[in-house]
Amino acid sequence: MTQTRIAVIPGDGIGPEIVDATLDVLEALDCGLAFDRVDAGQRALDEQGELLPEKTLDTIRNNDTLLKGPITTPVGKGFTSVNVSLRQHFDLYANVRPALTWPGIPARYEDVDIITVRENIEGLYSGIGQTISEDGERAELRSVVTRSESRRLVEYAFNLAQRRGRRKVTVVHKANIMKTTSGLFLDTAREVAEGFPDIELQEMIVDNCAMQLVLDPHQFDTLVTTNLFGDILSDLCAGLVGGLGVAPGANIGDEVAMFEAVHGSAPDIAGKGVANPTALLLAASMMLDHIGMADPALQLHEAIGRTLKDGRTLTPDLGGSASTTDYARAVIERL
Ligand code: NAD
Repeated sequence: MTQTRIAVIPGDGIGPEIVDATLDVLEALDCGLAFDRVDAGQRALDEQGELLPEKTLDTIRNNDTLLKGPITTPVGKGFTSVNVSLRQHFDLYANVRPALTWPGIPARYEDVDIITVRENIEGLYSGIGQTISEDGERAELRSVVTRSESRRLVEYAFNLAQRRGRRKVTVVHKANIMKTTSGLFLDTAREVAEGFPDIELQEMIVDNCAMQLVLDPHQFDTLVTTNLFGDILSDLCAGLVGGLGVAPGANIGDEVAMFEAVHGSAPDIAGKGVANPTALLLAASMMLDHIGMADPALQLHEAIGRTLKDGRTLTPDLGGSASTTDYARAVIERL
């Protein structure tokens, strides 16, 4: 069998634990994957003197596909987010974050199925003009939104909705206040929607959207929005379906794609062997689908569903007492 090579960054905190568990499950799937482990972030800085070493970037570029554990970013000081740098470096413009209810997992609602498509390289996360005055009094950060990036992202969201047989795309904005940046995004979404007459375009202001998601999530299908709003709303959606432990994410570019959990490195539980690998496993299933391995992707997705529904090997975040490796073994048994 020819092998498909995947770049793997173990990451920080619980990263290596959930990445090892995920690679064990992928190896058991036996679908012809080979893994090239590379480092980024603090570990790469300590050992190779760079946050994103050239070897790491080359391996990702050569393999086209990256499976990544969470990477720690210092709060309020220190180095720029490696996650943001990877997204910008490889032009990973669309961040796709599905939130799905799982039978057996306690959640506020049943039958939630929402995909957030978040703009991933512009807006308030681009880091442009991030300054603070010497006396610490005045801080600045610029938000830049372009029509071409907005168009590319919204087209991706509509095409995704069409491929998956979904009926409605909600564009989430704050164009009443942020008339230029959010206004341009909304205007572009309206233009793109004209090319998709079978899909309903709904427009919603972000604060109302947050409330509506909590009150009645079933009215939503696919959300498309700018970087900061998408980051916050996708965590809100994860909270509706059982939390960050079951929230995967794909970062899509035209050449490279990166798959990861929505959650971070969870330093509070790192090294204890209790991290839930489900989010990264679900991201791995999205990765298989993306690289044309639809059958193994479904096989993995269904094995995760059966393990969660069975309920006997859940990790503590989902109310169980299983370890990361117990859970991975249970998924392998159900493949
Ligand atoms: P976090 O997602 O790491 O943790 C939030 C809470 O959720 C914690 O209580 C944690 O224990 C729990 N949690 C998260 N993942 C879990 C899992 N798989 N199983 C069980 N419990 C889990 O968020 P944070 O504490 O705000 O961030 C920690 C670090 O992660 C920060 O440095 C942040 O910058 C980074 N981060 C990285 C990414 C990424 O790599 N894409 C994303 C978000 C945050």
